[in-house]
Amino acid sequence: MKDFVALNDVERQAIVQTCKLLKATPLVGCTACKYCVDGCPKHINIPQWFECLNTFRTYGKTDVWEIGAAKRNGTLASHCIGCGKCEQACPQKLPIRQLLKETAEKCE
Ligand code: SF4
Ligand code: SF4
Repeated sequence: MKDFVALNDVERQAIVQTCKLLKATPLVGCTACKYCVDGCPKHINIPQWFECLNTFRTYGKTDVWEIGAAKRNGTLASHCIGCGKCEQACPQKLPIRQLLKETAEKCE
């Protein structure tokens, strides 16, 4: 640390600006706790699909590796039958069924 150089004002301003832009993107607040996954009768990788949706919301396109991880057990967001079990388990109270519909439209 003896050669440590603190951020200058321009660099600090760039970070503040980047934070503002990122906060302006409405991302799904999924923490990937996976409490929703075990009870899903269709075994959907819910948090992994939400990662795909967040990538889409941020960059306007999905990431093939994230999609591959989400469908690795052969399930899709569109396989949701709307039973609602996941929403009862979600500590973030996310509208999972509605978000999976959006995920299916944009990411599959
Ligand atoms: S609502 Fe859909 S995602 Fe949620 S537990 Fe039921 S089938 Fe799975
Ligand atoms: S329970 Fe909610 S916060 Fe946790 S992984 Fe599932 S959707 Fe995300």
